[in-house]
Amino acid sequence: MVHNLVIIGSGPAGYTTALYAGRANVGPLMIDGGVGKGQELLGAGGQLMITTEVENYPGFEHGIQGPELMQIMRKQALRFGVEVVEELVSRVDFNVYPYKIWVNDDVYEAKTVVIATGASAKWIGLDEEKPAWEGGLGGRGVSACATCDGFFFRGKEVAVIGGGDTAMEEAIYLTNHASKVYVIHRRDTLRASKIMQERALKHPKIEFVWTSAVEKIHDPAEGKVTGVTLRNTVTGALSELALQGVFVAIGHKPNTEVFAGQIELDDAGYINTHHNVRTSKFAVFAAGDVQDHEYRQAITAAGTGCMAAIQAERLLEQLNVLSVDEATADW
Ligand code: NAP
Repeated sequence: MVHNLVIIGSGPAGYTTALYAGRANVGPLMIDGGVGKGQELLGAGGQLMITTEVENYPGFEHGIQGPELMQIMRKQALRFGVEVVEELVSRVDFNVYPYKIWVNDDVYEAKTVVIATGASAKWIGLDEEKPAWEGGLGGRGVSACATCDGFFFRGKEVAVIGGGDTAMEEAIYLTNHASKVYVIHRRDTLRASKIMQERALKHPKIEFVWTSAVEKIHDPAEGKVTGVTLRNTVTGALSELALQGVFVAIGHKPNTEVFAGQIELDDAGYINTHHNVRTSKFAVFAAGDVQDHEYRQAITAAGTGCMAAIQAERLLEQLNVLSVDEATADW
């Protein structure tokens, strides 16, 4: 059986695509990511599953918990006849049409595809970061999500690593819980927007530690964090800083490994799109964080998911009267 539409991924972008395509009687199949693969691939629901309060998703006047929002989106999509495979995609072949998508040994064929696999937080690459995502985020003092784990650090001293908007946002958020927040940045100027910089720089609870890289975290494997070893990125000098929590906020990585060589990616691995959601490959669309490193919001992901569903539906209609070659010429 060749599916009209296969949706890969199930965050706000994937669920919105499913909702729109389901209502349009396209009969989509969603491969939702299953339980994921630790910190690299978060599985069904994506990043919102490790978020607490979402206050900026329109329609929820008093905010909503991230996992609850994902559950509502999933239920809403399933009302309209979406078939779900609770697994991770292992391989794709977009070189022969209809396209092939593998989940281990099972293969699904598709006339149109929407990729909505999102992005994951980046880690520095220290061994001590591992227990954080293997044994539950935050519990052992290292986290990539202040809104998820800030609660564990009430009255404690913590550090945020990074100099971008995410790091500023995390640092400001953490001041609600922690007694002091260090921002450890490898350079002496910030990448963050002016307004976020100003807010963080003037905050009485935030102290900046410039030109510094974290060499070692002591010691999440022992069950808690007691401090970090810093290396001055200019002089190379080492120093110690006592603290109880480390929040890594150095950006995100799009989940596109499985698509490498099949569609065009940019230098950072995000999917290149044109006409909002069209990838370089005919009938393959991309929506949400996997193609957006600028906004990365649940609402923008949902918006592009809607666009992808409408474009896929229109393309399927076209394919009733045009050959694949004729339709490809318009892509
Ligand atoms: P980003 O802008 O890429 O910043 C990443 C930061 O982490 C940079 O300061 C970078 O240092 C540092 N970094 C990267 N790798 C590192 C490493 N291995 N070790 C130590 N430091 C490292 O990422 P982001 O802050 O996640 O923001 C991504 C995008 O989302 C941006 O466009 C941002 O404006 C947007 N965003 C907006 C908001 C908002 O407006 N409220 C909130 C969050 C994100 P260098 O500066 O030296 O490269």
